[in-house]
Amino acid sequence: MTCEAVAPDDIFECRKCGHCCQGFGGTYVTPRDVDNIAEYTGISEMELRDRYCQPSDGRLVLAQDADGFCVFWDKLCTIHPVKPRMCRAWPFIEGVLRAPENWTHMAEACPGIRTEFPEKAIVACVRQQLDALPEDGHVYPNNLKRI
Ligand code: SF4
Ligand code: SF4
Repeated sequence: MTCEAVAPDDIFECRKCGHCCQGFGGTYVTPRDVDNIAEYTGISEMELRDRYCQPSDGRLVLAQDADGFCVFWDKLCTIHPVKPRMCRAWPFIEGVLRAPENWTHMAEACPGIRTEFPEKAIVACVRQQLDALPEDGHVYPNNLKRI
């Protein structure tokens, strides 16, 4: 699938470094994400919200361990099939549509992001990928998989 002049694989290839699972100011989880993770892990929704999430700006984010990594990180994502929408989408996120310069900022922390393409083409590609992103965490395009 191409997006104007660039395809998703042209502008992003995950290096499996795990940097995006550490810090980054929190991984937002939707109610659907909570449902999916609870079902996949067998952790009750209440425990998931209380012990594995924390509030941030009125929303829920995944909690982090003392080392700053996501609670579901263990050398890889332990909830990969149901990881939150934000993780499945990365780096094709709404923030790039709102402010295209975010793509370059994100690249400073994510070595898989390439920036040497026209901004317009990158935005078009991000928009197309977001439009194709299922809300449900169980099925998603291979090119959106990362760790
Ligand atoms: S998405 Fe980026 S930061 Fe995250 S593991 Fe892949 S290359 Fe590393
Ligand atoms: S849910 Fe998985 S992909 Fe998302 S931040 Fe946690 S470990 Fe990383």
